[in-house]
Amino acid sequence: MIKMVLASKNRHKLEEIRDIVKELDIQLISMEEAGLGKLEIIEDGKTFEENSMKKAVTVMEKTNTIAIADDSGLEVDYLDGRPGVYSARFSGENATDQDNNRKLLHMLEGVPLKDRVGRFVSVISVSFPDGRRLSFRGECEGIIGLEERGLGGFGYDPLFIVPEYDKTFAQLGSDIKNSISHRARALEKFGRKLKKLLGEK
Ligand code: IMP
Repeated sequence: MIKMVLASKNRHKLEEIRDIVKELDIQLISMEEAGLGKLEIIEDGKTFEENSMKKAVTVMEKTNTIAIADDSGLEVDYLDGRPGVYSARFSGENATDQDNNRKLLHMLEGVPLKDRVGRFVSVISVSFPDGRRLSFRGECEGIIGLEERGLGGFGYDPLFIVPEYDKTFAQLGSDIKNSISHRARALEKFGRKLKKLLGEK
């Protein structure tokens, strides 16, 4: 088992990432379990890559343990890629998921479904105590719905329709979401690389 710290306080991400990497030989511990429950990392990067790597490197340096981070968000074409890296804070610093969803619906008022194309992006970064740094990007294309549907997931899930299923991430349930999501795709790439690295030893 390789021990890794997840550089995130988002319990939804921790649950999803644990579920997605369950086949890999990783013991994924939370920041709280690593004694970093109070650590605040300012996400001041302009890209998912910058923010994700900053979180991973900061936690690796504090724990001297391999750290893994996810920076993710929703890009909407009609809004020129917004909310993007500001997805968590779309309607203000202490915005709730509901506030953000409401703001997104408001900004897309009157826009027909065919013009509500967007994608979730996840960049998984890994920082090793020996200085190695790796990043993996995953994306999942969808349509921003006209209203919220479904009760599962978190964040923008009730608004994100996956065309192949004609259901939102919040309706699809974690088994399907975690097999096709942006996060699953980024973590798949990470898993492949990890297997290669372990095979090299
Ligand atoms: P981060 O913690 O800065 O990476 O913020 C990510 C934000 O993007 C979350 O707070 C959500 O608003 C949104 N987001 C990222 N991934 C997902 C997802 O899988 N479902 C719904 N919203 C997501």
